[in-house]
Amino acid sequence: MLHDEHRFLIDCGEGTQLQILQSGIGFKCLNRILITHGHLDHILGLAGLLSIFMRWETIEGLEIYGGSWALERIHDLLFGVVLRGARAPMELRFHPIQEGVIFEAEDFCISAFPVYHRGPDCFGFLFEEKSRRPFLPEKADALAIPQGPWRRDLVNGQTVELPDGRRITPDQVLGPERPGTRLVHVGDAGRVEELRRVCQGVDALVIEATYLDGESDMAQEFAHLTARQAAELALKAGVGHLILTHLSRRYRERDVLAEARSVFPGAIVARDFDHFQVRRGELVKVEDRPGPVSASPPEA
Ligand SMILES: [Zn+2]
Ligand SMILES: [Zn+2]
Repeated sequence: MLHDEHRFLIDCGEGTQLQILQSGIGFKCLNRILITHGHLDHILGLAGLLSIFMRWETIEGLEIYGGSWALERIHDLLFGVVLRGARAPMELRFHPIQEGVIFEAEDFCISAFPVYHRGPDCFGFLFEEKSRRPFLPEKADALAIPQGPWRRDLVNGQTVELPDGRRITPDQVLGPERPGTRLVHVGDAGRVEELRRVCQGVDALVIEATYLDGESDMAQEFAHLTARQAAELALKAGVGHLILTHLSRRYRERDVLAEARSVFPGAIVARDFDHFQVRRGELVKVEDRPGPVSASPPEA
């Protein structure tokens, strides 16, 4: 997940470090990891990531956000298995999270919300760009505001004085406030009812679809979703785009897609290395990182 200079990795399945290497996006600034829950298929990759950092990559610190059960398991994995008394190559900081805002930057924030799944402390994440007033170039042109720092300052809400002496206020060139882009990421989930509210009207929903409707009893037993359930949630919550993840390798992708699309026609499946850009009202697939596809490992 990228937002300007911020990068967030959500969950870290086995082999994540190899995929990052292969994808060419690199480890730069990859210092914040959000964990949805403590099942091994969502945390094992942290061991590989740490071992890479122990060998040759350097970053200043790694911030890991998760529920306390997940953090306990990650702590055991990193300190008990990978490091075993060795010094961590960077500062490892654990941030136990609860429902509410867990990260805030100047123009966006991330909140955690509870998700029902097996085990305690499972969370989903809402990425929210702060609302802003768009710059209207036609108004700026009509006022003959020259290109350059004046326009930038106006965008930032400052009144400017032009070289010809006129004073222009932001209100003269900014449109009405527009809500920022919102994206929800749900890891494993056994129910969708309580997710409706947080998903309401978001631009994009990334969510698991481990089972097909034909095995909904298994989905229920293991507290996972079927593609149909995920699509119904997206439909009822009126989300802009639906991106399915965590597919079982027992199914063919097109069957999962067919089931989801029978409810939510635009549903897509995220493959490894896929890179999407979510903007207000649109989802753009960025075709810059071709790479192999692999299914999620089984859960433990
Ligand atoms: Zn799980
Ligand atoms: Zn899982």
